[in-house]
Parts: sequence; C-alpha cells; structure tokens
Amino acid sequence: MDGTLYYSDRPAEGAQALLQYLRGKGKRVGFITNNSRNTADEIAVKLHHMGIFADPSEIISATDAIGSYLMDHYGPRTVKAVGSLSLEQAIAGKGHRVIPLSSAEQADIVVIGRDTGFTFDKLQQLVNEVESGVTLLATNPDLYHPGPGGTRIPETGALVRAVEAITGQSVMSIGKPGPYLFHYGMKKYGVDASQCTMIGDNLETDITGGARAGMRTIWIRSGGMGQTLIGRDSSAPIPDVIIERIGQWTLLNTSEGRG
Ligand SMILES: [Mg+2]
Repeated sequence: MDGTLYYSDRPAEGAQALLQYLRGKGKRVGFITNNSRNTADEIAVKLHHMGIFADPSEIISATDAIGSYLMDHYGPRTVKAVGSLSLEQAIAGKGHRVIPLSSAEQADIVVIGRDTGFTFDKLQQLVNEVESGVTLLATNPDLYHPGPGGTRIPETGALVRAVEAITGQSVMSIGKPGPYLFHYGMKKYGVDASQCTMIGDNLETDITGGARAGMRTIWIRSGGMGQTLIGRDSSAPIPDVIIERIGQWTLLNTSEGRG
C-alpha cells in the first residue's frame, strides 16, 4: 500500500480515482499488506484521512492474518508476540491465549512482528525461546520500508535477521511474497488467481508473491524502494506491466476482464 496508494502519509495522485473506477466497473478490490503493526480497522482510518476509501473487510494485513495462520496450522495455542499491542490483540482475537514475552511460562509459538520498542532484552528472550524449542514465526520478511525524504524505516525482517544470525535457524514469515496472504484473500473473495491482478511497488514482495500465486502483476516503479529489474535472479518473476506511478493507470488497457 505504502509506495503504491500513498507515500508515508501523502496519497498517491490518482489512487482514489482508480479505486472508484474499478468499483464502478463492478470489480472487487482487496488490499494485501505486510503491515504487522496495525489492524485492518486502523489502516482503514489512516487511508480515510488521506482521502482513500477502503472498508476494513477489504484489507488483508499480516497483523490480522497471523492469528488465522496459527489457527489453520496449529489450532488454538499459547502465543508470545514481539510487536504492537494491536498485533497481540489481533492474535488473541483469533482464539489464541497471548502471554507476555517476559512470562516465565513457556509459549507454544512466538510471533515476531514490527516492534518499534525492540530491545536487547527482547532479543535475548527470543533467542532463548528458540533454544528451548519454541516455534518462531514472523509476520513479514521486509527489512525496511521507505520513509519520508528517501529515508529507510526498519521492518520486522531486520529483527528476524538478528535472531537468525544468533540461532543459525531460519524463521518463516507468513507475509508477502509467501503464498498465505494471497490465498487468504482469494478464499475470502471466492476467486482464483486467474481472476486477479496484483498491483504493487515492491518487486521482491508484491510482484514476486503475486506472480507465484498465479496472478497478473503490475509494478509501480517509483514506490521508493529503489529497485530495478536489472541484475535480479533469473528465476525472479517479471512484472506483466510496468508503470511509473499509480496515477498512470489510465494508460492501462482497463477494458480487460480481470481485476
Ligand atoms: Mg509497498
């Protein structure tokens, strides 16, 4: 969403017009985001303030989906989470028992999300949870997202890398480019991948994930990630369509039946 529909707190020109156009054509719109700090309700409020209108039911966030993932794969569990209060509440809301990271009680699963209050102590606790055999899962693999004026804002993946560096074990993430959020969205909308187009600014998460899920992809080149197609791994999916900004959507052949 950030880098596609808006930039930090500034709406992208033409974003709301595209949503209006698609909805006017009877297309359903879903927003798949690796955001692991905010719930769909909170994200909808942020969008609303920028004049971009989305119903919370249309927003598929890593924050909301991780609890469903745990339920699908493990059933109701005792969970510790490193992240925002919203992340903890979202996990509890899906039927899990959430206990503090510092609790002496052992959890079944520890979730790592974007924790802006991350500390040395938390890193130490996480590493020792892994040593004691707890399953560790991350919400999203992003190392950073673009901030205002070309700055970089650290993301969940950076915290995950620290844990991986110490434990030597890799931590699986449910976010893009993994298949879970895409399949979650398709199931929710009752559609298959051939009916979907993924629009995003991040080649490694949005485009790779969408293409691997079988969707058509549109890459917004100017999202702020500074990525290029040159020098990428030859197995990495190539976007079907490339545009500079979302405001250029009118250049697309929008008479096509997919959406
Ligand atoms: Mg983005």
